[in-house]
Amino acid sequence: MTDKLTLDEYQKLANRSAGAGGDGERRLIVSALGLAGEAGEFANLVKKMTAHGHQFDKKALEDELGDVLWYLAEAATSAGLDLENIASQNVNKLINRYPNGFNQENSIHRTD
Ligand SMILES: [Mg+2]
Repeated sequence: MTDKLTLDEYQKLANRSAGAGGDGERRLIVSALGLAGEAGEFANLVKKMTAHGHQFDKKALEDELGDVLWYLAEAATSAGLDLENIASQNVNKLINRYPNGFNQENSIHRTD
């Protein structure tokens, strides 16, 4: 069992259980569909808590976000991308867009 992982370690470990989606373009398509499906499962839990009166279930949310993360790693791997690079590029993009944290003015007048 593992406790804390870097994204690089996670991507490698997640890849151990990949393969059912095939390879090449098929693997990329299956990972995209899986990512959307798991994001939908997460959204459905939130919908049930918001609209159907279900109790806040932190463990269930955590489990679905883990499934999202797995398919995100699978999507990155199948596209030949590094999950840690994706994370750092995304953070750098947001730092450039919102240098002092999010604000509505910067959002409305985005230059990128
Ligand atoms: Mg799931």
